[in-house]
Amino acid sequence: MTLRAIGLVHYPVLDRGGETVTTAITNLDLHDMSRSARTYGVEELYVVHPVAAQRLLAERIQSHWVSGSGKKRIPDRSLALELLRIVPGLDDVYAAIAGPAGRRGVSIWTTAASARSGPVTSYASARSLLQQAPLPVLILFGTGWGLAASIVEDADLRLEPIRGESDYNHLSVRAACAITLDRLLG
Ligand code: SAM
Repeated sequence: MTLRAIGLVHYPVLDRGGETVTTAITNLDLHDMSRSARTYGVEELYVVHPVAAQRLLAERIQSHWVSGSGKKRIPDRSLALELLRIVPGLDDVYAAIAGPAGRRGVSIWTTAASARSGPVTSYASARSLLQQAPLPVLILFGTGWGLAASIVEDADLRLEPIRGESDYNHLSVRAACAITLDRLLG
């Protein structure tokens, strides 16, 4: 197995105070992360949002670029936005990937800027684990101040935080996604 999909989670995520919140969809996230997913051969980008109006916004963005005037203007972008799968919750992601097996049929890997929730796996180890993964792997990216504990604690693997030379640690989710995919698949 290899990396089947990535997920951009808007609930449950954390706010600055550590409370569980729902964040708004950012257009740029959809474009950048789907372009990265396409580049590295990831099959789907799941956009998880419980609010129907927000899902409608994402669906409109996708249809503009996949079947609307955007496709005519920039055909390459259409190939990326085709990967979007816009769903209400994580259970919908698991069902889409694994069918009736649901959560049991998916290997969930999480990402975070800090290793606050226990042991993490290096990218070097994760890269080889990916090649021999017995189940489809889904990597989850958060928004706001990161994935809620309920997701991180349920993960099968927690990827180590991406670190640079400096102690500045404020990557966007878009940048973190691209770096993660390159370290695992590049
Ligand atoms: N403090 C938050 C955290 O610990 O994840 C940062 C949230 S950041 C704005 C949103 C998402 O980008 C995170 O949930 C994670 O998926 C990703 N991310 C940001 N910085 C990262 C890093 N240094 N390493 C890995 N992922 C990172």
